[in-house]
Amino acid sequence: MINYFYMLAITTLFALSQPNIKLQVLGSGGPESGDKRASSSYLIWVDGKSKVLIDFGGGASLRFEEVNAKIEDLDVILLTHLHVDHTADIPVLLKSSFFTRASGNLHIYGPSNNDFMPSTQEFIERLFEDNHGAWHYLGDHLDCKARLQLKTHTIKDTRTVKSIYTQGNLHISAISVHHGPIPAIAYRVQIGNKSITFSGDMNGDYHTLEKLAAGTDILVAHNAVPKGASGVASKLHMTPNIIGQIAKQSKTKMLILSHRMLRTLGKEAESKREIKKYYKGNIKFANDKSYYMLK
Ligand SMILES: [Zn+2]
Repeated sequence: MINYFYMLAITTLFALSQPNIKLQVLGSGGPESGDKRASSSYLIWVDGKSKVLIDFGGGASLRFEEVNAKIEDLDVILLTHLHVDHTADIPVLLKSSFFTRASGNLHIYGPSNNDFMPSTQEFIERLFEDNHGAWHYLGDHLDCKARLQLKTHTIKDTRTVKSIYTQGNLHISAISVHHGPIPAIAYRVQIGNKSITFSGDMNGDYHTLEKLAAGTDILVAHNAVPKGASGVASKLHMTPNIIGQIAKQSKTKMLILSHRMLRTLGKEAESKREIKKYYKGNIKFANDKSYYMLK
């Protein structure tokens, strides 16, 4: 009997200490106009606060506003890579913070450089740096005396899971993924005993996402190309077949398909059929502002 009450108390305490987590899609589209979606962006709410942003492509700032997210509550922005459809609204967010009480450090993480892309540090400096930045009037945000300071962290290429950020029960880890010639990172956000993993744009060639996503509660995978895609498209993006194999290998509990493009929109049944050849779990197609609770 004592044992029973002891276990009940422990279980109740554990449930109380596990925060309320919500994944919300801000942008479920890609770079095209015509998909009628904001470009890639996701928000993680923890106990009703908008804490972690993953990518912030064109249109995401409007969705951020529509779902009543607050810049004041944001701790971290994770950039999977620096293509326009994943980063274009960053200046919008930073400027709009002026009209809020946002203060302290806002951490921003992203990949390192190569011949095709600047490092995340360089990218942010080219946008905002005091002397040379395109929007150097926002350069104060890079200064340690700023009310809201943007703290940029560049992640070096890594083929093993690397822990990048910890605050309380929030842990973020990262791994490099293959997105053609573009440096790209996938992230896993762990809060207490729950986790969400974001593939970003990638084609699966590095075989790294399955390691990062092992046992994850939700895997957000980008459904940018249809079954049978080849050539450049398949060097940049996962076919449904690859998504299915990774979801299976990682034993993800739920799969959300996003970054939906004109070439995959309308082919949901076919994509799902391909994925189901490998993955038997729950599959959802993302829409702007749709959300998923983690219980
Ligand atoms: Zn993209």
